Amino acid sequence: MLQGKQIGDFKLLDELGKGSFGCVYKCQNIFDQSYHAIKIIQFASLNNSEGIVGELLKDEISVLAKIDSPNVLKLEHYFQSKSNCYILMEYCNAGDLEKYWEKKGKRLQEQKVIDIIIQVLSGLSELHKFNIIHRDIKLANILMHNDQVKIADLGFCKQLQNKDMEVTLCLGTIGTMAPEVARYDSYGLQSDIFSIGCIFYQLLFGELPFDCSDVKVYLSAIRQQKIEFYKYGVVIQNEIKEVISKMLKEDPKERLTFPQLFQYSMFTKIQNMSKVSQIAQKNVSKIETSRYYQDDGMSVLKQNEDVFKTQQNQQSQYVESLQKVNIINNTYQNQENVSKLAYELRATQSLSQNQQPIQNTLEQLKEKETVFKTDRTYNSIQIKSQINNTNSLVNTKIQQKYLYLQDALQFCNRTYSEINQIQFENESKSLIGKFMLLKRIRSESKSYLQDLANYPELQGLKGAFLAYIQDSEFYNVLNQIRGNQNLFANLRQEYNNELQEQATGVFQYSYCQALMELHTQIKQEINKQAENKKKKDLVIVLLHIQKCMHFQDLCQEKIEIEEEFFNIKKKNLIDIIKQVQF
Ligand code: ATP
Repeated sequence: MLQGKQIGDFKLLDELGKGSFGCVYKCQNIFDQSYHAIKIIQFASLNNSEGIVGELLKDEISVLAKIDSPNVLKLEHYFQSKSNCYILMEYCNAGDLEKYWEKKGKRLQEQKVIDIIIQVLSGLSELHKFNIIHRDIKLANILMHNDQVKIADLGFCKQLQNKDMEVTLCLGTIGTMAPEVARYDSYGLQSDIFSIGCIFYQLLFGELPFDCSDVKVYLSAIRQQKIEFYKYGVVIQNEIKEVISKMLKEDPKERLTFPQLFQYSMFTKIQNMSKVSQIAQKNVSKIETSRYYQDDGMSVLKQNEDVFKTQQNQQSQYVESLQKVNIINNTYQNQENVSKLAYELRATQSLSQNQQPIQNTLEQLKEKETVFKTDRTYNSIQIKSQINNTNSLVNTKIQQKYLYLQDALQFCNRTYSEINQIQFENESKSLIGKFMLLKRIRSESKSYLQDLANYPELQGLKGAFLAYIQDSEFYNVLNQIRGNQNLFANLRQEYNNELQEQATGVFQYSYCQALMELHTQIKQEINKQAENKKKKDLVIVLLHIQKCMHFQDLCQEKIEIEEEFFNIKKKNLIDIIKQVQF
């Protein structure tokens, strides 16, 4: 019994459970009192397994550390002593989904199940982003924290080299195991979709969809697609039946993919919007873009390989033309232009034969940039230094949260100014998208400002959010919309509501919709755009809009705004397109 012992900065509390490789304890950080879970694994237990467990464990650690999703259990720290290794994780206060489901009499309400499945899909889509197959998705491997669902136990995860590569190592639990895994065939990411189909069914009907008394019976039931949707008096929507059936197809190629899944209305209903906005919109926009690039954009570009070959030339020509610009000229006397010019120069610097003039220009710009640092950036520097002087650990966490939120708003704001520089053929159409972006910046700022009232010691942060609330650009755009007779008359009801500053009908939904429409509009501009350099700028804006759509994700990221925008501009068009495709 290790209860009461201290390991590093953590005091061990209750034992939470035992797994194949070790014991998990609840623990508490002795400095900030925060709760965590710690898995203790004896090295001795690993040696018995001819290295395979050790390999898998290493995978688990490297995998978990990379993932940042509210629906995947977070690995916070890993350390080891001579005989043990310790994995510190976020603590989940509500046990696993299997216990929850049992406690609820093994039948959950349809809406609750959809809510859970949305979250599981959200976590899984994050794992699949890294080409990680979970391989053992089942109720016991999904933990719950309050109402949030987190995919855990990535012990069986194996990171693939790339999406198309498949592995042959049979791990997992029969009953939720994809048939190709049970048959020891090679398998890919779609095997997890099968497992989610199984738990989707299980949560509704109280038992697994296929008889799994032995592997043969199991495989044969899957082959015959013996899925019983009429039992125990459970009544579910036809759409759910269809989704489950299509997730449980024997052939992985016939199973629903993420993009297909998110086209079903149950995943896009407004009542699910808070979650769907994080995942469905993300995926829908990605398919859309990827389709666009595969079918239209990419093929158009590919048809003309010369475009790529001459890209470097064009970029260096661009550098030359930039150098010719007299930066002392009044046109560059504002911060936005100075920063933009500096980004462009740095981005294309490596392409130029003659580095000296660029260096000189950059030096001059650097001075100007310092002079033109916006009040906002200035504020944020001041705030950060104030924060550095405060020592309380608890406060640091709260302060960090607000700095992240500020980063997210800054990101959106920066994206707005990029969009604003696009010359749209139909300017009025893009107004709504721009407006919604500004509204989000503004309304989030308002609510953060209100929150801040609870932390008198953080008053210094107020300025950061006030700046966005006082931004007159919001009213400019609002008045442009109201003054545009045609646009105004044809405005859909939800946008009409949003035009009243305080009203936010279905804000989150409309926000994503508006950005999506803007996204589509920018794609059309890309198609029309002949000049490669401008095409690239538009694709970059597209990427930034996508990030803004997932505002909640942005709020959890520390964004080095300057770096973020600079790094992406540095990439060539093909690399950027690949990112948009993702
Ligand atoms: P195996 O490792 O064999 O797959 P397992 O998933 O049960 O089995 P562990 O991951 O070691 O093994 O977890 C043991 C138990 O501890 C789990 O059943 C779970 O209830 C609990 N547990 C694990 N991690 C956490 C956590 N982060 N927060 C709360 N409880 C946890």
